Amino acid sequence: MTGAGARPGPVAVFGGTFNPVHLGHLRSAVELVERLELDELRFMPCALPPHREAPGVDAASRAAMVELAIAGAPRLACDRRELERDGPSYTIDSLLSLRGELGSGRSLLLVMGSDALAGLAGWHRWEELLDHCHIVALARPDAALPDSGPVAAWLARHRVEADVLRVRPAGGVHVLQLRPLPISATEIRGLVQSGFSARYLVPDPVLAHIERHGLYRQELPGPVKRQVNTQEGNDCQQ
Ligand code: ATP
Repeated sequence: MTGAGARPGPVAVFGGTFNPVHLGHLRSAVELVERLELDELRFMPCALPPHREAPGVDAASRAAMVELAIAGAPRLACDRRELERDGPSYTIDSLLSLRGELGSGRSLLLVMGSDALAGLAGWHRWEELLDHCHIVALARPDAALPDSGPVAAWLARHRVEADVLRVRPAGGVHVLQLRPLPISATEIRGLVQSGFSARYLVPDPVLAHIERHGLYRQELPGPVKRQVNTQEGNDCQQ
């Protein structure tokens, strides 16, 4: 919260396909707002993931589910800027646009799971990301932090404690352990496609949207269990 005359708090963006948004994302967002005393956390659905298959559900519908999920939640918002751009949704472009909006002095955090961090070297202009933001990496039970290769070396160079996120506008990587909720969108799509219920894994209004629009029924049968590919960047959490 920002008191009169106080330095404004950080703004965080949580990028992803959100196909669909689920309680793992949402609970992480609430804990991030409270733990890091954020002014705001914006979910930023990507329109066109550069390094993964196009999601079977269009960006407008995925963003609509995010908006349904966070309706009325304090300090949570949906940022639609990637839906308004043509071409691949590169995170670096979104950060430049956010910087233009927030000014150079405001702390800006890019949130990603440790699975996304492991693939960071595959992202477009990944070594420039920290010029514009801090990165907050959420430790996830199914994806360890990289311990070798370019991302591991980069992490060792830039790792910071939480207090730095408020003091500087950009440049650090902070690793945070939140409540682990092993839920993935892949699993939810698999459940729906197989005729099982996704109730209590997604908010009720999101479930209603999925049912009303018949989403995920036609997905190709695939593993219901989450699979993490650490070799290839997920350019849509980019
Ligand atoms: P998919 O299974 O389709 O890959 P996902 O559940 O991982 O989807 P994304 O939209 O790809 O969801 O993820 C957006 C961001 O949320 C990524 O940085 C990812 O690491 C993170 N994330 C996904 N699930 C969780 C979870 N259960 N807890 C914390 N972070 C999560």
